[in-house]
Amino acid sequence: MTALNRFSIKPLSTMTRLLADVASARREPDLVIGGARVMSTYSERILGDREVWISGGRIAAVKPAGSYKGSAAKRYDAKGGIIAPGLVDPHLHIESSMVTACAYAEAALLNGTTTIFCDSHEIGNVMDVAGVEAMLEDARQAPLSIFLTVPSTVPATSPELETAGGDLTPEKIAALFDKWPEAVALGEKMDFVPGRHG
Ligand SMILES: [Zn+2]
Repeated sequence: MTALNRFSIKPLSTMTRLLADVASARREPDLVIGGARVMSTYSERILGDREVWISGGRIAAVKPAGSYKGSAAKRYDAKGGIIAPGLVDPHLHIESSMVTACAYAEAALLNGTTTIFCDSHEIGNVMDVAGVEAMLEDARQAPLSIFLTVPSTVPATSPELETAGGDLTPEKIAALFDKWPEAVALGEKMDFVPGRHG
């Protein structure tokens, strides 16, 4: 069995025809979650008596309870539970939790967070680029969508105030953006007064 992570599911653009077929009941879903209430963030309402049709790891349709008439799909009874979209955490430092990305993912997912944007400046401050990349390698194994905002301020202060193990120069930051598709933005700016790394 392949690892469950964000690469396990095919890109949406390659699945729209399949999902449309499933939603139109021309093909069987893989899984039907019944007995569910669905939290609609569009209407700000909890929708009762719904069932969710899943195909290829994606939601193909949300239907009134009892709509599924086939027999091939696996069934899961949510027993009145609420199905809600995953939460997105736009800024955190995994290593400040003193755990790896995979261990962090376990706790985050159990509490409903499915996507995070980490800024690895603590590990960058200790191990420079090698630390940031080691955390990204680990993050790719996690069943959580983990993106990187590239640390902008390593070290966080001046050499007179700290002896850091890393020095992320603009060149190194640029190379991280070039190498890692997870890198989506620049991380938090701390030492803005002296204008380090401009
Ligand atoms: Zn922060």
